[in-house]
Amino acid sequence: MSNTYDYDLFVIGGGSGGVRAARRTAALGKKVGIAEESRYGGTCVIRGCVPKKLYVYASTFLEHFEDAEGFGWSVGETSFDWNKLVSSKEKEITRLESLYRKGLDAANVELFDSRATLRGPHDVYLVAEDRVVTAERILVAVGGTPNPHESLPGHELAIVSDAAFDLKEFPKRIVISGAGYIGIEFAGIFAGLGAEVTIIYRGLEILSNFDQDLRQLLHEEYEKRGIRIITQQVIGKIEEGPGGVRRATLSGGEVLEADQIMLAIGRTPLTHDLGLDLAGVKTDDRGYIPVNEYSRTNVDSIWAVGDVTDREPLTPVAIHEAMCFVSTEYLGKPAVPDHETIPTAVFSHPEIGTVGLTEQEAGKKYNKLNVFRANFKPMKHTMTGRDTRILMKLIVDAETDRVVGAHVLGSDAGEMAQLLAIPMKMNCTKADFDRTMALHPSAGEELVTMYEPTYTVVNGERQGE
Ligand code: NDP
Repeated sequence: MSNTYDYDLFVIGGGSGGVRAARRTAALGKKVGIAEESRYGGTCVIRGCVPKKLYVYASTFLEHFEDAEGFGWSVGETSFDWNKLVSSKEKEITRLESLYRKGLDAANVELFDSRATLRGPHDVYLVAEDRVVTAERILVAVGGTPNPHESLPGHELAIVSDAAFDLKEFPKRIVISGAGYIGIEFAGIFAGLGAEVTIIYRGLEILSNFDQDLRQLLHEEYEKRGIRIITQQVIGKIEEGPGGVRRATLSGGEVLEADQIMLAIGRTPLTHDLGLDLAGVKTDDRGYIPVNEYSRTNVDSIWAVGDVTDREPLTPVAIHEAMCFVSTEYLGKPAVPDHETIPTAVFSHPEIGTVGLTEQEAGKKYNKLNVFRANFKPMKHTMTGRDTRILMKLIVDAETDRVVGAHVLGSDAGEMAQLLAIPMKMNCTKADFDRTMALHPSAGEELVTMYEPTYTVVNGERQGE
C-alpha cells in the first residue's frame, strides 16, 4: 500500500463493474474503498436484468396455462397478483444485494453508503461523510440511467423502467415509447401479465440494431399477442386527464389514453455533477467518459468501466472491462477488453438470441454471403395450436465459409446464443456446423441441418431468394 494515499484503489459505483474491480483488487492485498449512493448491485441487480428476467418469467404463465389444454390438462380459474410479484422480486433483489455487500466485506473492501464525487485526480469526496479521501487509482463505474426525455412536454407524467418495476398498481393500459431492448421487453412483460400495450416507435421497424428478419417476425408475433405497434410516430406531448389518466398525443394526431406511459428511449451516463471537471476528466458531447483500450481516462490516475463509457452497455461487458483493468494495473498483465462477437438476448415473447453480425451489417463487410434460414412451427405448438414461429438464421462469409452471424427468434433463444457464441468466437465455419451431429428432437438441431443456402447476398443485395 502506498503511504501517500488512503487507498490503493477507490471505486465510485457499486454495480457490476465496480464491485468486480473492487473485490478482485482487494483479494490481491490492496487497500480498496467503494462508494454506492443507492443499492449495491447497481442497475443489473436492482433495477435491470435481474428483476426484468423475473418479470419475464411471471409474464409467461398465462400462455402456459392456455397451452396446457392441448396436452390434456385443464387449468382452473387463474388470477394474477401484481403486488405479490413486486414483493417477491423485492425479496430476491434484497438477498442479492446483501450477497454483494458480503462479498465485498469478505474481500476486505471498505464500503461506503454514500454518493461520491471527484475532487481531483486522486481525491474522492464522500458526500454522506462530508470528507475527502485519497486514492492512488480511482475507478469510475457509475453506470447510466434512463433518458427522462426532458424536452417532451409532460415527460414528468411518464415513468421509466426504474419505476416500472415498483408500480403501486398494475397498469391495465400502458403506452411505451421506444422499441429498443427495454421498450420491447417491457411490452412483452406487461402484455403477458394481461395489460393492453401500445408501442410507439419513431422508425420503420422495431429493434433497429437487430437482423431485419427477426425484427419483422417479432413485430408479427407481438401483434398476434395483441400488442399494438405504431411506427414512424413519436409522442408529441403527455397530459393528465380526469382520475389521473395519462394522455399521449402522437405526432400523427391520435390521442392515446393509458394508466401509464413509459419512456424507453435509451439511457444516459450518470456523469452529471460527478466532479469530473475538478479532476480534469473529459466527457464527450453526450456525457460519456472516453477511455483508451485499457479503460483509462485522459487523467492518468482515473479509469472508467461499464455504461459510463460509450462501449457496449451490458453487464458481462462491464465485468470483463473491470477484470481487464485489474489484470493490467495490479497483475502486471496488460489486458485489452475484447468487444468482438458479444452474444445478446432480448427477453421478448418469443425471445431473441443473437451473436455476431446482422445480414445488413455483414452485407457491408463481405462481398458475398451465404444465408441459411429456417422458419418453422415449434413442435410443442403442434399440440397447442398456438400460432407462433421459430426463426433461425446463419450468415456465412462465402469466401472463407466462416459463420459471421447467428440469429434465433424463439423459445430459449438466449440460451442458444450463449452456446453459439463459443464456436463463433473460435471462428468456426459452416462446415463445422455441418459435421456436428443433430440433437433430436430439439429446435436447435435446425442450426446444424440447414445444408443449402436459402439465398445469397452479393454486395449487400439479396439474390436467389
Ligand atoms: P435502446 O437504444 O435499445 O432503444 C432505444 C429506443 O428508443 C429505440 O427504439 C430508439 O429508436 C428510440 N429512441 C431514441 N431516442 C428517441 C427519441 N428522442 N424519441 C423517440 N424514440 C427514441 O435503449 P434502451 O433504453 O431500450 O436500452 C438501453 C441499453 O440497455 C441497451 O442498448 C442495452 O445495451 C441495455 N439493455 C440490455 C438488455 C439485454 O441485454 N436484454 C435489456 C435492457 C437493456 P431508434 O432505434 O430509431 O434509435
